[in-house]
Formats: sequence, C-alpha cells, structure tokens
Amino acid sequence: MLLHILEIIAAVALAFGLWFWWACSEPWSTFFRPVLIRGPREGKRVTLTFDDGPAEKFTEQILGILREHRVPATFFVCGKNAEQHPELLRRIVAEGHEVGNHSYSHFFTYFKSRRRMAREIDNTQAIIEKLTGQRPSFFRPPYGARWFGLVPTLLQRGMHLILWSATGYDWKKDAQGIVNAALRELKPGAIILLHDGREARPPAEIDRSGTVAALPAIIAGARERGYTFAPLRDFLPAA
Ligand SMILES: [Zn+2]
Repeated sequence: MLLHILEIIAAVALAFGLWFWWACSEPWSTFFRPVLIRGPREGKRVTLTFDDGPAEKFTEQILGILREHRVPATFFVCGKNAEQHPELLRRIVAEGHEVGNHSYSHFFTYFKSRRRMAREIDNTQAIIEKLTGQRPSFFRPPYGARWFGLVPTLLQRGMHLILWSATGYDWKKDAQGIVNAALRELKPGAIILLHDGREARPPAEIDRSGTVAALPAIIAGARERGYTFAPLRDFLPAA
C-alpha cells in the first residue's frame, strides 16, 4: 500500500515537472502572460524577427536582402553585441526596422532574481537608446525561457514579452531545411524566428550563412502563398 502511494506521488511529481518545464520553455506556452506569440488571425500578415545580433557580415547581408525585397523586420539584439557593433545597430534603425531587447549577455532566465533580470534588460535598453535614440518596447527572452518576475519587470517598463509561432530552426538546419520549416509553420499572424547572430559568442564562432541563403526563398515563398510582411508593432493588441 505504501509503495503504491509513493508511486502515485512520484507520478504526480513527474507530471508536474514536465508541465512546469513546458510552461517555462515552450514558445507557445501562455503560463507567463501577457505574451505575444502570434499576431492577428485575420488578414494574411506575417512578421520576421532576427535574434542574437548584431553580428559582422550576417546582419549586413540580411539587411541587404530585406531592403531589396522591401520587407520590414525586428532585430532582437543582445546589448553586448550592440556595444560591439554600434554601426550595425544604427543601420538597422536607419533602414526602418525595429530593435527589440534580447538581454545583455543572452542569459537563461531560469532561477534568476528579479534584480538580475532587470539589470540585463536595463543595460541593454540604455545601450540601444544611447546608440539609436530609441527605447525598445519589445523583449524576447533568450532561448524563449521565462521565469517568475520577468513579466512584472517588463510591465513596469512598459515592455511587451514577445515569443514566436514559426521558425526555420536555423540553429540546426541547412538553407533548404530552414526554408521548408519556416514556410511549413506559416499561418496568418505568424511571428517568424530567425537568427542573424549567435548569442554573445566571438565572431569566429558565428555562421549564419544558412539563414542568409534561406531568406530570399522564405520571403518569396510567403508572398506566393498570399502573405504580406508587416512590422511587429502592427501585431500588438490595440491598447
Ligand atoms: Zn537568442
């Protein structure tokens, strides 16, 4: 009997653990809210987002493709990378794109204090504001990882928590795989996750050539399917 009870307790604990992991880490979890995962279902609009930059070469290449195809995007930059590439950050803004906050050091929010999270967010806000004159209103947590205290910290600053609903899995796929995955997950209101940089690692460790090669085909494929590209701010619920 005792063994039976222990088994039940273990099963419940395991189920809770799995659910909790899901709640904190899956992009489509709404356990921590308000959160924007996907834009309006009406109309066929989608939006592109690029994380982890700015980075030498790849951010420039992506900006060139976006300009050529007249597509607006949002760049969720790490404060540390923005400090190293102020000219790229300014170019993102000058070319009409939006800048979002992706923390300073690309840290995991799990088990972090509110103070630590605030420091990561505020440092990055200050860097972006100093370099561009603009203060982002979007925050995307590194790895999509959310933790207690994150949402109140953002709300205090008038910022929005942004996840994503479609991705090219460009951290593990080749160019064709990125195109296929991104187009397969496309739905009205899709927020598409791609990467122009790689966390806060040195330039030699960054290779986003797959994303660069895939981007024109993602844009063309989405347009063939009747989608138009909108800026992320158009996806915010009306205040
Ligand atoms: Zn990231």
